[in-house]
Amino acid sequence: MNAQRTQVAIIGAGPAGLLLGQLLHREGIDSVVLEATSRAHVESRVRAGVLEHQSVDILQAAGVGARMRREGLLHHGIELRFQGSRHRIDFGALTGKSVMIYGQHEVVKDLIAARVQAALPLLFEIRDVQLSGLESSAPRVQFRAEGQTHALECDFVAGCDGFHGICRSYLPASGVKLFERVYPFAWLGILAAAPPASQELVYALHEHGFALLSMRSPTLSRLYLQCAPDEDLDGWPDERVWEELQVRLATRDGFSLTTGPIQQKSVTAMRSFVVEPMQWGRLFLAGDAAHIVPPTGAKGMNLALADVHVLARALVSHFRYGSDDLLRRYSEQCLHRIWKVQRFSWWMTALLHRFDTDNDFDRRRQTAELEYLASSPAAQQSLAENYVGPPLE
Ligand SMILES: Cc1cc2nc3c(=O)[nH]c(=O)nc-3n(C[C@H](O)[C@H](O)[C@H](O)COP(=O)(O)OP(=O)(O)OC[C@H]3O[C@@H](n4cnc5c(N)ncnc54)[C@H](O)[C@@H]3O)c2cc1C
Repeated sequence: MNAQRTQVAIIGAGPAGLLLGQLLHREGIDSVVLEATSRAHVESRVRAGVLEHQSVDILQAAGVGARMRREGLLHHGIELRFQGSRHRIDFGALTGKSVMIYGQHEVVKDLIAARVQAALPLLFEIRDVQLSGLESSAPRVQFRAEGQTHALECDFVAGCDGFHGICRSYLPASGVKLFERVYPFAWLGILAAAPPASQELVYALHEHGFALLSMRSPTLSRLYLQCAPDEDLDGWPDERVWEELQVRLATRDGFSLTTGPIQQKSVTAMRSFVVEPMQWGRLFLAGDAAHIVPPTGAKGMNLALADVHVLARALVSHFRYGSDDLLRRYSEQCLHRIWKVQRFSWWMTALLHRFDTDNDFDRRRQTAELEYLASSPAAQQSLAENYVGPPLE
């Protein structure tokens, strides 16, 4: 068996794991990042694309913001669309802040490039990760790579391995509480080589359900339709996807979608999930490993980045000053923000989707809420300040 030692073993090379490695590196703390899939896979996984203003600042301060600043699209508002009319929520006027459109896979590419350039350990396609000694001061991570078993001795383990990872299962069942809501719909998402038909994101509620027009670049559109959780993609040839998007996004002033070749098509389930606490002994969970939000509020990647920002500070405090106070309070500090974001993501989802149990009362209530948002600066302010992101405490 090959044995190695590091200060922090990071499981998962998504935005959470990679940013944590980068933040620790800048503070002179060693880490090893272990990833189950290949570099090509993580660099091409198209998922989130909206960065809160604080996420932009965190990436910039971590030294990985140069390409984002050059290529990202700064957005100062979003549009709400219902009953054929458009209503802009002006983030600039309401909060003085903006969001950045920059794909999650681009963030991941930038973080991997920085790690490779600094010659820091990042192992892809590793298998069979097992953790032990989490309640001691010397945890151990065992895994397989290239047919051999490896052991990594460390001071801490960061579980950044996403919702389907293994780290969460090491929290003792008797010591944790799970909170979950599964929604009765999903999103059918496409990535299309078509210039976006709007300069800003458009969130629409139509009699047929939700639709979202978003983008990843001036030439790539990302669009979504509310669909059934078990929707069969075979029933959605490209022409039908474009037709339905046009129907749901139509306006009385003649909005027309720009179309183009569809490069990817997928169905994403919608779930709200939180595990409390997010730590056990020397294991700390961050990102999707600890919580999931429905993507309506564009918060998943932002929460992951915020968690590791807090975790990195706590680890620096341990290694530099010998203080474990921030580590002890890690979970509590993150959960405070996570539940605010959970509430907002649930609210945006409830506002903009047709539920199975929809009845006329709910439809009228949704319309009344959208009309209130369209007409009330106070209601718009609440949406805007949550969308651009609550402050990092
Ligand atoms: C299909 C999909 C679409 C999404 N779309 C949107 C969107 O449109 N908007 C939005 O805001 N959010 C979206 N999200 C959510 C957002 O992408 C996540 O919140 C974000 O990826 C969280 O980052 P993370 O680093 O915590 O986890 P992840 O990005 O999931 O990274 C976890 C990493 O751990 C690795 N891993 C897993 N198990 C192991 C193991 N045993 N050993 C080693 N490595 C392991 C995984 O391969 C992965 O690379 C989407 C998520 C999914 C799954």
